[in-house]
Amino acid sequence: MKLNFLTAHELKNLLDSGRNTPTDILNDVKIRYEETESKVRAFARTPFFDQVKIRQDADGPLAQIPVAIKDNICSKGDLTECSSRILKGFRAPYDATVVEKLKNSGAIIFGKTNMDEFAFGSSCETSCFYPTRNPWDLDCVPGGSSGGSAAAVAADEVIMSLGSDTGGSIRQPASLCGVVGLKPTYGRVSRYGLIAFASSLDQIGPFTKDIRDNALLLKVIAGYDERDSTSVPMPVPDYLKILGKDVKGMRVALPKEYFVEGMDLEVRASLEEAKARLESLGAIFKEVSLPHTEYAVAVYYIIATAEASSNLARFDGVQYGFRAQSGNDNDSKGLISMYKESRGQGFGAEAKRRIILGTYVLSSGYYDAYYSRALKVRTLVKQDFDKVFSDFDVILTPTSPTPAFKIGEKMDDPLSMYLSDIYTISVNLAGLPAISLPCGFTKKGLPLGMQIIGKPFGEEDIYRLAFQYEQNTPWHKEKPKL
Ligand code: GLN
Repeated sequence: MKLNFLTAHELKNLLDSGRNTPTDILNDVKIRYEETESKVRAFARTPFFDQVKIRQDADGPLAQIPVAIKDNICSKGDLTECSSRILKGFRAPYDATVVEKLKNSGAIIFGKTNMDEFAFGSSCETSCFYPTRNPWDLDCVPGGSSGGSAAAVAADEVIMSLGSDTGGSIRQPASLCGVVGLKPTYGRVSRYGLIAFASSLDQIGPFTKDIRDNALLLKVIAGYDERDSTSVPMPVPDYLKILGKDVKGMRVALPKEYFVEGMDLEVRASLEEAKARLESLGAIFKEVSLPHTEYAVAVYYIIATAEASSNLARFDGVQYGFRAQSGNDNDSKGLISMYKESRGQGFGAEAKRRIILGTYVLSSGYYDAYYSRALKVRTLVKQDFDKVFSDFDVILTPTSPTPAFKIGEKMDDPLSMYLSDIYTISVNLAGLPAISLPCGFTKKGLPLGMQIIGKPFGEEDIYRLAFQYEQNTPWHKEKPKL
């Protein structure tokens, strides 16, 4: 088998045994890239292959493993454009903490992946470059906003990747592409060097082909960072240690608000099967209520757009990336017009929609009616979870209300696009960790995913349940035919 189809832990064994060399791995990954990238378009731009080299000195836990990173994570000297025209030509002057950690672990940074512009979206279609395609059906979206990172791993173009998740952007594409994606607890992974969308919600997290690799990659990137004031000074457990532990007696909550009339039948059936499987392994299930779930999407789109409008104010044509041509003319119409034209031409439609919405909810007169209220309801959402977690170890839900949808299907209907994150958004509002892992396929052969939500810093509970499920099901071994 070509080495690009393997996991990092499998490759490590081959390297340690001397059966393969780092060059073998990189060659297979490059060949795969050449063969499939024109179909999938997972990357924001062609990786610079003269820079993508094996690391002679590397001997860390990810030594010689090619890893892709989302285009909103800074890597020194590389274009980092958030798939937005307004950052055209922007080269990061430093490495994000996660990139520094990857490099220290011996990994090879393989390239930057395509995304929804500034991570606004659920389909990868708001990228200024092109839409990424789902490796399981090239007419379908890979999900978003980290669709490129999910598709690159699903298509075996890289071994693992990093994405960011503000309202579901790691878990939803992981679900739609049939890979594993984890959003860590808020504060677990440094956001230093992640170009901010909504600072109180954003977290960087790993995409992998299986749970063991996910635990491995999280261990590498997690930890306190004095350069991120919201990172939490707690020791990072050895997540790999929990993987062998059985799930007997684990208490799993099923929130009734997530299993409603009218939900996709194949999604529901896959969750029911997963429940039965986990019960047979000894997990104990009980229905619970998260009563404020119905407000989560509304609250999220107030808080996330408010923070986004503020974070995006810095992109004004002066310091970063793109400046409208008129701003460079000697007979320029003045500063304000340079700002307006640069922002007008630089941002896409979805970014503009969010800036307008966010500015509105923060404006005097509306601040109390929308923004302050949303913060209060956010607390209620968090308290719902606290209550459940006083009795349970984890919560099980679907990841996405539907399997992958067709490219173009939701682009003219922002509200229906916003509902793609109905199962993932509350987790960000509450700052919790959650994973999506494969749990079956539709009749048409599209992957389905399920979500396991943990307590704050409960990543070990998540991995424990997820690993036992994975080891007792075949889904993660399936590959798309490309
Ligand atoms: N789809 C959600 C949004 O559009 C979440 C995006 C994300 O997590 N970055 O905001």
